[in-house]
Amino acid sequence: MYIGGHWVDALSGEQFDSDNPFLARPWARIPRGSAMDVDLAVQAAHAAFTSGEWPSLTATRRGALLRRLGDLVTERSRALAEVEVHDNGKLFAEMSMHTAYAAQWYHYYGGLADKIEGAVLPIDKPHTFNYTRYEPLGVVAAIVPWNSPLLLVAWKLAPALAAGNTVVIKPSEYASASTLAFMKLVEEAGFPPGVVNVVTGFGAEVGVPLVEHPLVAKVAFTGSDVTGQRIYEAAARGMKRVTMELGGKSPNIVFDDAEIDNAVKGVISGIFAATGQTCIAGSRLLVQRSLHDQFLDKLVAFARGAKMGDPMSGETQIGPVTNQPQLDKILTYIEIGKGEGATPVLGGGRAERPECGSGWFVEPTIFTGVHNQMRIAQEEVFGPVLAVIPFEDEEEAIAIGNDVVYGLAAGVWTQNMRRALLMAERLQAGTVWINTYRAVSYLSPFGGYKRSGLGRESGQEMIKEYLQVKSVWISTAKDVPNPFIQR
Ligand code: NAD
Repeated sequence: MYIGGHWVDALSGEQFDSDNPFLARPWARIPRGSAMDVDLAVQAAHAAFTSGEWPSLTATRRGALLRRLGDLVTERSRALAEVEVHDNGKLFAEMSMHTAYAAQWYHYYGGLADKIEGAVLPIDKPHTFNYTRYEPLGVVAAIVPWNSPLLLVAWKLAPALAAGNTVVIKPSEYASASTLAFMKLVEEAGFPPGVVNVVTGFGAEVGVPLVEHPLVAKVAFTGSDVTGQRIYEAAARGMKRVTMELGGKSPNIVFDDAEIDNAVKGVISGIFAATGQTCIAGSRLLVQRSLHDQFLDKLVAFARGAKMGDPMSGETQIGPVTNQPQLDKILTYIEIGKGEGATPVLGGGRAERPECGSGWFVEPTIFTGVHNQMRIAQEEVFGPVLAVIPFEDEEEAIAIGNDVVYGLAAGVWTQNMRRALLMAERLQAGTVWINTYRAVSYLSPFGGYKRSGLGRESGQEMIKEYLQVKSVWISTAKDVPNPFIQR
């Protein structure tokens, strides 16, 4: 682990295995942190926030450090991606894109660091000068899941540091290695000791004490809504700020006026890319009834041809599921779907193909005969399982699309501009994609409506999630007036 500028083992000396999901066996040993390690890391981060080099650095200098880090991430992105693939089994093609793209967050927020401006306000009192300044919060806890570790670290770390905070990162117990490899770059970039720290381990043993630590000012979390709720409750007890990027059950909505071949690709990318292990998975396909059969034929044919196998191979399109519990969860949901009366027109179980070896693979699965109240239409599966629901018209598509507890994203496939804009307005989701899917950028805010989250990541505005504003009053009056009356 990396605490206060030092590489350390867990104080207990304990470690745990990290599994390679393609080989279904351990490939790395990770320190098993505990509350004692969390305390050391938070103390180090707090010391770095309150004294020493970091608080006296100019914002311009902070920005330069972030840009240097971005350069290093760019240079080493392939090596970092390889570590991620061993840990989480996602395609090297996607992970190397992620790690290379993560550099943009360090460059962008590095550039923004010295553009955070307060204001002089035209205050409504005589002989008074009032201005605002934006100040960092303190120690930020960044807690991330296993599906895109370094990208999701970048989404939190870059703005948190640009704003002048210090950070303790807790990666997922299923994919910690890439964050540790990345910390070598943080060290090389020249951040002062204690500004960025990493404690590895389990949610109950590291995540809980980190959120509860009295010196943590803010929790930036990405993960499931169940964990998010627990963290929100704990953060409320300590009156801490939170941003939460949680799960989804996003509708990908195809109208009969869509470019069919593009829509097929968009639906495939929404649910089978990343083996469906993405928060923005388009796990409900809402297809206009008049197009239903034709669209399903094309979709099934396309998905049937997807190549499974070694995620490091450039040929592979669908890799394994990241961990054994997730494999079990997906297979359980497939059985739930069958039990609810839905029909698996493709897949419907564990993949036993020779190219999958002993890895944790699930066949890409498409359920028809689904109605929106079924559990496979309401609950996040986080795997390659698509629930297909027909609809008649725009109103019904909107009603079904919004009829879930989540609101992370939605896709719309149509060539009709009026319809596209109507859907963009009426769908309750933090992101709406029209004739595209799964696009994200450091320039555009990302986050959830409803149970999919609180606050936003990326874009200019969100840096304020890591800042607090102070109002400063200066009197230029010669005398203090009546002290018994508020001014
Ligand atoms: P998870 O909620 O189980 O774990 C996420 C992180 O929280 C891990 O590091 C875990 O150790 C930690 N944790 C667990 N319990 C904790 C607790 N009580 N206190 C503090 N920390 C705790 O999520 P996961 O299974 O690793 O990831 C999958 C989930 O993440 C899915 O629901 C997915 O939708 C969501 N996700 C959301 C986004 C987004 O941006 N909206 C992106 C990726 C993944």
